[in-house]
Amino acid sequence: MTALQKLYEGKAKILYATADPTVLLACYKDDATAFNAQKRGTIAGKGRINCTMAAHLFRKLEAAGVPTHFVNCPGPDEMLVRALTIVPLEVIVRNIAAGSLCKQTGLALGTELNPPLVEFCYKNDDFGDPLVTEGRIYAMKLATPEQVREIETLTRRINDLLREFFQQCGITLVDFKIEFGIDAGGRIVLGDEISPDTCRLWDAQESDPVARVLDKDRFRQDLGNVEGAYQRVLDKVLAN
Ligand code: UDP
Repeated sequence: MTALQKLYEGKAKILYATADPTVLLACYKDDATAFNAQKRGTIAGKGRINCTMAAHLFRKLEAAGVPTHFVNCPGPDEMLVRALTIVPLEVIVRNIAAGSLCKQTGLALGTELNPPLVEFCYKNDDFGDPLVTEGRIYAMKLATPEQVREIETLTRRINDLLREFFQQCGITLVDFKIEFGIDAGGRIVLGDEISPDTCRLWDAQESDPVARVLDKDRFRQDLGNVEGAYQRVLDKVLAN
């Protein structure tokens, strides 16, 4: 077999072209970064865990009518995805205050947010992925008003579905980041991944603020047992 052409290497995945120009191969890596790549490390088994978990969630979302880029998984850390033109926005959903929201606003960690917050960041590491207003999105031509409306509607639906699913798993979905792209037909489609790298996930039975953390905050804050937490999330997800 001839080597596939590498199109792009990101912090967590490598994208390759395939024989079908409408399909790409995403290889999930064990590499971990935080704080705009100022902290770097490896989480053993992360590529396999995140790929398997994202595939499971993409299948669930597709079954509920959410369009995603997922095609199938030829290997445990490999995902075939539909090629999309990425909308350069990181869409953040917050059900409970944590992370940068607490730092920037003084809201206490754990404050319930009802309705959930949907926020947009400009996906550009050179600027540190800054929070952007809707006005800035249009001024920068990152997306049209119709696309922003469609993205927000899809995002709230995805949050409802994921929140309920994680609740069944005994996990609280605190917040998460998703990305969208546009397919050949102009349709807005969920892309990237959904994993403990991109979600804050708390063990719903655990009140201890360190023990409950089952996501990348264990790596960011050096809380230990990162691999164990990621594997526990995957086990719970696959059981539901
Ligand atoms: N997030 C992400 N990638 C980013 C920034 C944030 O996946 O580049 C996720 C993060 O894991 C969390 C949510 O988005 O689940 C909200 O992150 P926040 O804005 O609080 O930033 P952080 O505290 O991670 O810097």
